Amino acid sequence: MALGEFQLIARYFTWSPETRTGVVLGVGDDCALLAPAPGQQLAVSTDTLVEGRHFLSTVPPERLGHKALAVNLSDLAACGAQPLAFTLALSLPRVEEAFLAGLARGMQALAQRTGIALVGGDTTAGPLALTVTVFGEVPPGAALLRSGAAPGDTLWVSGALGDARLALEAFRGTLRLEACAFEAARRAMEQPEPRVALGLALRGVATSAIDLSDGLLGDLAHILERSRVGAQVQLDALPRSAHLAAQPEPVQRSCVLAGGDDYELLFTAPAHAQAAVHAAAQRAGVPVTAVGVIVADAGLRVLDACGQEVALGGLAGFDHFVS
Ligand code: ADP
Ligand code: MG
Repeated sequence: MALGEFQLIARYFTWSPETRTGVVLGVGDDCALLAPAPGQQLAVSTDTLVEGRHFLSTVPPERLGHKALAVNLSDLAACGAQPLAFTLALSLPRVEEAFLAGLARGMQALAQRTGIALVGGDTTAGPLALTVTVFGEVPPGAALLRSGAAPGDTLWVSGALGDARLALEAFRGTLRLEACAFEAARRAMEQPEPRVALGLALRGVATSAIDLSDGLLGDLAHILERSRVGAQVQLDALPRSAHLAAQPEPVQRSCVLAGGDDYELLFTAPAHAQAAVHAAAQRAGVPVTAVGVIVADAGLRVLDACGQEVALGGLAGFDHFVS
């Protein structure tokens, strides 16, 4: 007989005993009870992954479980918040135990590693979709926002950009990758690493931050708009993997500028804070690269190695209702 809703929750999504400080009551009652440390603010964010829209049906369930939580942890990272707890709303077309076991395993491994507790959710029949809501803690005034960038600040990015898009294009058949490059790019797309430790280390150092989900151009535009500034970005400085660097220049350009699904942090810091940024990156164990500068005049200019402005026609960020 098929597993019932409550057996399913008990078997795969009840990970207690929940011992994390700040979680008073987890899965099983009408509400979870959270007790953030005294004086801390609660940072809250939610993200939905829908099959065919945010992930392909070919994704291994472990990686899907990882990614559904990772994209939400990435929002906490971008705010400099310490992960506390999350809920999971699941819509499932059918009960497949091997799928559920894999999904739960991938999610639980990342949750354990980042110290976040699964405290509740909802389970319903329907098209495959996962909605995660995360709760994090941050001291008042310490959250990294999109609105703090100032002229003269250096623009930084963590990790490498564009691999997730490279993998997507390989899946779509618009380009071909060697087996090992494909595996590496696919891992970047299916199993992004949320930069939680970096976000925490950048408290008090970064003046603004955002996580890169829709591509650098689109996400940087959010910082520029909220901070009422402009930016110059050095195209050649944008960090990319060796296999992306082996692609034709137009492919590299669209992947690093408008790829989407990178889940790296894009942030600004005063020029004099360069050593502090490197120290934060070292503490977090994540490489960071200076890629540009914030300017007073509105607008975003991307410059090539000769200082010539790069035409950005057709390279907008990823927008679900446009592309
Ligand atoms: P209610 O009817 O009160 O909304 P439910 O029957 O939906 O409660 O869920 C029972 C318990 O299981 C609740 O504590 C709920 O938070 C939890 N829960 C339901 N689905 C999930 C899930 N996918 N992951 C984790 N907890 C879940
Ligand atoms: Mg419910």
